[in-house]
Amino acid sequence: MHDTDRAATGTAPPQDAPGGATDFLDGNALAGVLAELFAVDVTTATSRCAHCGSSGHLAALRVYGRAPGLVARCPHCSEVVLRLVRTPQDMWLDMRGCTALAVPMAPA
Ligand SMILES: [Zn+2]
Repeated sequence: MHDTDRAATGTAPPQDAPGGATDFLDGNALAGVLAELFAVDVTTATSRCAHCGSSGHLAALRVYGRAPGLVARCPHCSEVVLRLVRTPQDMWLDMRGCTALAVPMAPA
């Protein structure tokens, strides 16, 4: 596997990989790919619910804003798919309820 493949898949190399601890890139290698990913309208992306397995556009999630942030729930099982909280310094995105996110992209 090439380092660029690892950056695209987010997989970490095994600790005992040939070349030892220098056989990987630091998280900065994600910057270019993630900048391309998050520069799109993610409401058109398709998410898969970690609880019931159903898939659908993010725009179809049920969003509740009374919490200290936004909570998006699955329209099929009502479980939490993602949480988004804006603090003065950061934006926190909790996607534990989403097993996959498919973002439409222009052909590479
Ligand atoms: Zn669900």
